[in-house]
Amino acid sequence: MTKSADKNRSSQFVGCVFNGIGASPGIAIGRAFLLDRGKLKPRQEKISSDQVEAEIARFHEAVEGARKELEEIKEKTLQRSDREGVGQKHDYLFDVHLLMLGDKMLVDDTVTLIKEKKINAEWALSLNSEKIIEFFRQMQDAYLRERQSDVAHVSERILRHLTKSEYDSIDKISRGVIVVAHDLSPADTLQLNPDKVKAFVTDLGGRTSHTAIVARSLEIPAVVGTEQATEKINGGDRLIVDGIEGRILVNPSQQQLTAYLEKQQQYNRFQQQLILNRDLPAETTDGFRISLAGNIETLEETESVLSHGAVDIGLYRTEFLYLNRRHPPTEEEHFQTYRKVVESLPPESRTTIRTFDLGSDKLSDLDHFHEDSINPALGLRGIRLCLNRRDIFVTQLRGILRASHYGRLKILMPMISGLAELRQALEIIAETKSDLEGEGVPFDREIPIGVMIEVPSAAVVSDQLARDVDFFSIGTNDLIQYTLALDRSNEHVSYLYEPLHPAILRLLKTVIDNARQADIPVSICGEMAGEPLYTLVLLGLGLDKLSMNAISIPHIKQIIRQSTFVEARQMLEECLRMETATEIEAFITREMNRRFPETFLMKI
Ligand code: PEP
Ligand code: MG
Repeated sequence: MTKSADKNRSSQFVGCVFNGIGASPGIAIGRAFLLDRGKLKPRQEKISSDQVEAEIARFHEAVEGARKELEEIKEKTLQRSDREGVGQKHDYLFDVHLLMLGDKMLVDDTVTLIKEKKINAEWALSLNSEKIIEFFRQMQDAYLRERQSDVAHVSERILRHLTKSEYDSIDKISRGVIVVAHDLSPADTLQLNPDKVKAFVTDLGGRTSHTAIVARSLEIPAVVGTEQATEKINGGDRLIVDGIEGRILVNPSQQQLTAYLEKQQQYNRFQQQLILNRDLPAETTDGFRISLAGNIETLEETESVLSHGAVDIGLYRTEFLYLNRRHPPTEEEHFQTYRKVVESLPPESRTTIRTFDLGSDKLSDLDHFHEDSINPALGLRGIRLCLNRRDIFVTQLRGILRASHYGRLKILMPMISGLAELRQALEIIAETKSDLEGEGVPFDREIPIGVMIEVPSAAVVSDQLARDVDFFSIGTNDLIQYTLALDRSNEHVSYLYEPLHPAILRLLKTVIDNARQADIPVSICGEMAGEPLYTLVLLGLGLDKLSMNAISIPHIKQIIRQSTFVEARQMLEECLRMETATEIEAFITREMNRRFPETFLMKI
């Protein structure tokens, strides 16, 4: 490690407490590990003629450091894929980066800039890499255009060695730490190993950001959107992370430590008691039954869904298959992955595979996939990207259809905004089916096809959409984001994130009523489904299914099993008569606290 001096300085914020957004429940106590995500600012300095040689030597040293680091990572990755015998090997990626470290354009031209402009190495490197990135950006050929991100990654690696950043990288994480980062992408989060990382804390992010969703899937307690964690926490500080309340204590006192150890035990006991419900149905005391299903991002999570008491996968976010790699998965990879999912579940299970929803905050390394957009949530994402890159869409569809021969699958399409778009997508599915038929490949011809209702326009025309599909799944994360015009990943507007806003309740009611009218099943698979506070309101809407993170299933089931459908209906009707989200939220919080005093104490 290059950064020990800074990392181990003792904190000036002894005993400091601050809040963020509780993104994944649980309490963790451990030492802080600062991660280098999104905060490198290269110094820009003029140098004198007699400093030039030393500056060039410093630059070469940083290039050498980057090379050694890359070689080590490559070696470790190869050993891991050999050991696990899975996944495609990404060694060629490291080779591309290693080659770049010897590239004339990147290295020699930076040296020339140091000499000619008499500027420090960081400044010269960033000027030069910007020029090279621009050069690749202009390329007609998609493969060459992709090289711009390699240049950016390699430059950043050298820059880290130049700045001897006080932050560390993911591959250096040691056991038992609490990761502290300015920002973590969903792809970064997916790389965190729950056996090593006790919790994480970020400056940025919202409760329904995909980073938070992945944290819940990995069952790693997390607090996001703190705005100040990387300023207030030093590497090595002792931390308490309370993912239930969204609180962080830096270098706590003995008294605080004792109190939180007790809270941690209380939380663990609560979870153990909930799991006793595992094999019981989610049925109210007056006999209304609802299906509870799990959301997954990776194949490995099916086990956790089963162990938390669900049999169906209500949402498989397949875009995670596309992250941390350079080329989209092949048809065979799709097929094998989905086949493994269905074969790891009991035969009666039904898995809803959502076709890839890349392009928003889930940016893959497949740079040509997404445009340079300052507003990616409104850009080429979800079904728009599928229709734009029909080849990639069809590859995935073929994989899903082939896997449907081995277990019960459903196809779910994200971000549909209206009927014309839906029909275009349905046509592609029909053509893909007929191709497979022509090739004599077996698949489930009756595979149900549904749409996510997550764009307000889709909710408004859900009566039309319902006639052309087999089911609806409401994506409240995006439906709330687009209806209330707030970025779900932005901590500054998280106060506007109001699932109980009258506009949201009305939209939910419209969609569910339209599904009922057309006699198709309707579920909710957004994070709202797994929030205990909303359970009775959602139950009152008369949904068929709630699909959520595995860890939320036992708690939601307990609430349902201790309630009646009649009271849920009454509660919903009361809410629909109210005028503001604040009024509704106060009512629901009061009612839920009264009914479930112990449960709500945990505030999961
Ligand atoms: C949603 O938008 O509610 C949803 C379930 O999809 P995602 O969170 O992946 O956008
Ligand atoms: Mg969505």
